[in-house]
Amino acid sequence: MAPQIEMPRVPLAADETDVMREQLDYLIDHVAVAGQCGCPECQRYLRVRSILLEIFDEPRPVKVQAISPPLARAA
Ligand SMILES: [Zn+2]
Repeated sequence: MAPQIEMPRVPLAADETDVMREQLDYLIDHVAVAGQCGCPECQRYLRVRSILLEIFDEPRPVKVQAISPPLARAA
């Protein structure tokens, strides 16, 4: 019987995953408790939320408007 080979552990990756989950929980809790008060935590929440939910976003027709300043027309 071949001896069982232990897979090398990857504690860093696991830790990082845990940290991400904790952060997400923390941010969700913050917004749930405090509402969106506009503090940096809220900003992080909104950033994370938009990233995590972006695949669910319907492709919206984006009105592309030229935001370039009107050129002064030399007549
Ligand atoms: Zn806040």
